[in-house]
Amino acid sequence: MHANYIAGQWAEGPSQRSNINPSDTRDQIGRYAQADLNQVEQAIEAAHTGAPAWGLSSPQQRADVLDKIGSEILARKEEFGELLSREEGKTRPEGIGEFARAGAIFKFFAQEALRLRGDKLASVRPGLEVEVTREPIGVVGLITPWNFPAAIPAWKIAPALAYGNAVVFKPAELVPGSAWAISEIISRSGLPAGVFNLVMGPGSVVGQALLSDARIDGLSFTGSEGTGARIAQAAVQRGAKFQLEMGGKNPCVVLDDADLDTAVNCVVQSAFFSTGQRCTAASRIIVQKSIYAQFLERLAAATRSLRVGHALAADTQIGPVVDESQLAQDLHYIAMAKAEGARHICGGEQLKADTPGHFLSPALFADCDNRMQHCQEEIFGPVASVIPADNYEHALSLANDTPFGLSSGICTTSLKHATHFKRHAQAGMVMVNVPTAGVDYHVPFGGRKASSMGSREQGTYAAEFFTTVKTTYLQA
Ligand code: NAD
Repeated sequence: MHANYIAGQWAEGPSQRSNINPSDTRDQIGRYAQADLNQVEQAIEAAHTGAPAWGLSSPQQRADVLDKIGSEILARKEEFGELLSREEGKTRPEGIGEFARAGAIFKFFAQEALRLRGDKLASVRPGLEVEVTREPIGVVGLITPWNFPAAIPAWKIAPALAYGNAVVFKPAELVPGSAWAISEIISRSGLPAGVFNLVMGPGSVVGQALLSDARIDGLSFTGSEGTGARIAQAAVQRGAKFQLEMGGKNPCVVLDDADLDTAVNCVVQSAFFSTGQRCTAASRIIVQKSIYAQFLERLAAATRSLRVGHALAADTQIGPVVDESQLAQDLHYIAMAKAEGARHICGGEQLKADTPGHFLSPALFADCDNRMQHCQEEIFGPVASVIPADNYEHALSLANDTPFGLSSGICTTSLKHATHFKRHAQAGMVMVNVPTAGVDYHVPFGGRKASSMGSREQGTYAAEFFTTVKTTYLQA
């Protein structure tokens, strides 16, 4: 039984939830406490009580705590990577890679705790000095999705603590194992009681309770658009700070001057790796007509060759879909693509394996029209739609013709087109000759339009959300 962590103590919940392996649904990874409103209340109160002293703690204390957490995560990345693959379905290298990234993020923000800068300016009024400083915002509620169960918690918890905030952390109910493992390390890191609290449980109860509580000064959320809209509404109503990272419908443009090996590799990785369950996955593959047939043939061959299977099997490239309801959503959109007249090239079938799991072959559709519903809505599965484009200008306009704006990719050897695309792609992240998914941990992450709201996560830009600016005027 894995308990919640509240006010420096492990607290069993009134109920429990099983964590099931999507590669083998007979495999129960563990039982995890589910908080009720009473426990959420205790966690919020503990954070509220712990925040002032932590906010005034020395940067060295915060750096030491974060560095210790990061070091242990890195030292145990193989063990935790396997746990992540077991609970979420990413392949083992992807699971280990995600924990390596989580560890690196803690170590990065350990150093950032020492680097929080201010400004000192001369006033326009004689004899006055002006200082601009940053302070923690207080208590933050961190709500995370299931698809990056280690990296996303890390990139919220680490800056929150580095900049002196107290945390109430609510991970996704589907994958509590990685979140619990990180929390267990945090519980031994030397943080004062109450500064970090873990409350597991359903979004509709535990998450919802964080939205309306006046003691929570900021909400940092990653997840679906629908939940994000609720959070924004609740935060605006009571004047709390908020930051939302949501869905994507990311394009990958392939021009006729692209290196085709690079382009096929970019598309396959962007669309299908991590079972397409990445907010930065490419699902609209926009291909210039002059190479359309040739490129499609190579992409189809590469897609058919992908090995789908148990996430922990050595030769697996694509693990299972995370659960039954996501599988149903994927199959729904695959049926929709067929009904909308997209040409089915391959995949999209449920597969039987040695273990009972949610296996789906990567689905490729061609001759799609960007206005089709399945080309406008986020599927969040291994489904790619190839859309023909007349020329570069047409491809760019198709790439931007989406409600979302997270990641936008292009494969080209033309400096002119790459440079123009960098400037004109309506997305928070632009990828030239690299997959749309796969980002560094020390630079900003986030999108535009319906994909994001509020300031950026990661890197030094994380300070925008997790601190508040004070301007002081002083006459000596
Ligand atoms: P989700 O919105 O269903 O859940 C996200 C979190 O919100 C979970 O912890 C959930 O319990 C909680 N939640 C649900 N209802 C809530 C409520 N009423 N109040 C408060 N919290 C509530 O999303 P998901 O299915 O876990 O994740 C998939 C989505 O996340 C996709 O849309 C994907 O694109 C998006 N995502 C975005 C990014 C990004 O950085 N842009 C990264 C990863 C995933």
